[in-house]
Amino acid sequence: MAGYKNLDALEAKDKTVLVRVDLNVPMKDGNVSDFTRIQRVAPTIRELSKSGAKVVLLSHFGRPKGQIVPEMSLEPVANALASELAMDVAFASDCIGSGAADTISSLEGGDVALLENVRFHAGEEKNDPEFAAELAKLGDIYVNDAFSCSHRAHASTEALARLLPAYAGRNMEAELSALEAALGAPKRPVMAIVGGAKISTKLDLLFNLIEKVDTLVIGGGMANTFLNARGIDVGASLCEHDLADTAREILSKAERVGCEVLLQEDAVLAKEFKADAENRTAPVTDVASDEMMLDIGAKSAAQLKEKLATCKTLIWNGPLGAFEISPFGEGTFSVAREAAQLTKSGALITVAGGGDTVAALANAGVSEEFTYISTAGGAFLEWMEGKELPGVKALTT
Ligand code: AMP
Repeated sequence: MAGYKNLDALEAKDKTVLVRVDLNVPMKDGNVSDFTRIQRVAPTIRELSKSGAKVVLLSHFGRPKGQIVPEMSLEPVANALASELAMDVAFASDCIGSGAADTISSLEGGDVALLENVRFHAGEEKNDPEFAAELAKLGDIYVNDAFSCSHRAHASTEALARLLPAYAGRNMEAELSALEAALGAPKRPVMAIVGGAKISTKLDLLFNLIEKVDTLVIGGGMANTFLNARGIDVGASLCEHDLADTAREILSKAERVGCEVLLQEDAVLAKEFKADAENRTAPVTDVASDEMMLDIGAKSAAQLKEKLATCKTLIWNGPLGAFEISPFGEGTFSVAREAAQLTKSGALITVAGGGDTVAALANAGVSEEFTYISTAGGAFLEWMEGKELPGVKALTT
């Protein structure tokens, strides 16, 4: 997807550049407990700073709903950011008005400042033009490096982009090119793996993917709903019985558009949803009334891997089983390892994302080996659903 300007096109020296980042990071006992999001935006900050810009960071933190909530101040995050960047990061007590302007006026080219939580103002989530104009007053240029926030039309992700010359930061660019490589103009054949608990939360996703990919693997608890819709008795497995018609609609649409759908043929079964529960592997047609399918079986995993070896692109959202509970992660992990291996050998482009998927791939030890793993959650899902993201659109129109 083209149409947006990146930092290559930016003359930033001595300009005040407002950079929307996602510093909504996990905290524990007042300290940042996971630096992933900070690390993802660090390249943009460093690059702008090196080019002599005054770098002014905007972010939300938590859900203060337009009120000042001291526990949701970004001040502790400024310290974490400073240690990651190994440079000073000034902190402004407000993101608009004199609280922001005074801090910004003290900056020199190359300096970095973080402004207080944009969601302390109600105008942020309302995409209020007046609030956006207050933000715009503070800078000359706007950079959006927060793909993970760009599915929301908020003032700092949408309206502001229309008030200043707007650019995509490096993290945004990386997300957009990975997604373009996976779904926009992918190398074919393309396989999508969609797993997780329920289909009710992933209907838009399934309907969109069917149109885009050559093979759709449905795994995890979701697969049970499809197996049930095909008349298979899923016993005590997680299953949305009321969505049988919808599942059949998805399967017949897939057939119409020529998308192959793969469902597991065998599964790991247990009577209890707990670690190391007694289990057995059996065909999906052999599930007792008190048994649950908690992972794909070895035969299904082997079939999946064989198919994967014939593909050039993989897009993955959702685990193939209850991966958090041993031994029901093995299906997910073994397919993840195979995908990582194919990626390493240059045969496969692998793009994955969405909350549990990131954790499952980390458990499989392949986080570094996939072509791209998006930590964007909601924005990644909306992109996979084929929706236009307002924050991205504002950079391109
Ligand atoms: P989601 O948030 O929809 O992606 O679902 C992820 C959750 O689905 C994880 O917590 C998994 O443990 C769970 N899950 C995956 N497969 C199964 C299954 N066969 N039965 C029950 N839960 C599952």
